[in-house]
Amino acid sequence: MFDNLSDKLDKAFHILKGHGKITEVNVADTLKEVRRALLDADVNFKIAKDFTARVKEKAIGQDVLTTLQPGQLLVKLVKDELTELMGGDVAGVNLSGNPTVILMSGLQGSGKTTFSGKLANFLKTKKNKKPLLVACDIYRPAAINQLHVVGDQIGVEVYSEPENKNPVEIAQNAIKHAKANGFNVVIVDTAGRLAVDQEMMDEIARVHKAIQPQETLFVVDSMTGQDAVNTAKAFNDILNFDGVILTKLDGDTRGGAALSIKSIVNKPIKFVGTGEKMEAIDVFYPERMAERILG
Ligand code: GDP
Repeated sequence: MFDNLSDKLDKAFHILKGHGKITEVNVADTLKEVRRALLDADVNFKIAKDFTARVKEKAIGQDVLTTLQPGQLLVKLVKDELTELMGGDVAGVNLSGNPTVILMSGLQGSGKTTFSGKLANFLKTKKNKKPLLVACDIYRPAAINQLHVVGDQIGVEVYSEPENKNPVEIAQNAIKHAKANGFNVVIVDTAGRLAVDQEMMDEIARVHKAIQPQETLFVVDSMTGQDAVNTAKAFNDILNFDGVILTKLDGDTRGGAALSIKSIVNKPIKFVGTGEKMEAIDVFYPERMAERILG
């Protein structure tokens, strides 16, 4: 993942190699290449510009040129900035509710249903929880079936009411069912569409208001770059969500969404999806990701 970005950053730092003494010009050239690498990764112009400005400021503050290994120090400054850009500290999920209600939001095709299954499986196997999955897509019967298939695969019950066309009612009934049957996490998978539209937003806002989830998660396909960021903004304006799930990282060579989303919506990336299998879920660690990007 993020191979293009890693390659380009590697080339940027090459400028500093093979120089006897590194000059201010070498550093400026390197940062220019770092900025270009970020832009190529589909990071927006302002974020990329601010990023290199901050690295430059720190490099001057720490007298990079007078240190023994200026190249290494500059790589470290870039790594620290990448970590900050992706959220700094690792963010957990709030599991304090009884039951904890988690609302999944996002566009159709983003990987919402797959991720709902992955999260249920993660909470069941790693956190010893008893999750209930809820199918709230009233438009696509296939979506309900898909969640049942996922639930069967991981041995998690799926609540659905195929005849009911009211998602608020389905979600509320599911929570009642969870309380009566000892489920301590309820994961509500909602209907997505191919693009942001008012009807979808109104519907999810209604579900959100009615069930008051402890966690509202926004799921987005990381390969969609700047579109992912714009969609995140639209959902955040309506839901003020708690965290982002970046899916399909396994196919993302650029990394623009991972690098931009935090700056735009100021919400942490909590998990990533790294494949189609139920086990392909990772907690997102900004520092580890920055290390990985820099190789
Ligand atoms: P939804 O419409 O948002 O519920 O999306 P789905 O969960 O149906 O996922 C859409 C497609 O993306 C499916 O073919 C999934 O198998 C695939 N998918 C989901 N997450 C990942 C991931 O992390 N990596 C890869 N490679 N594919 C994924």
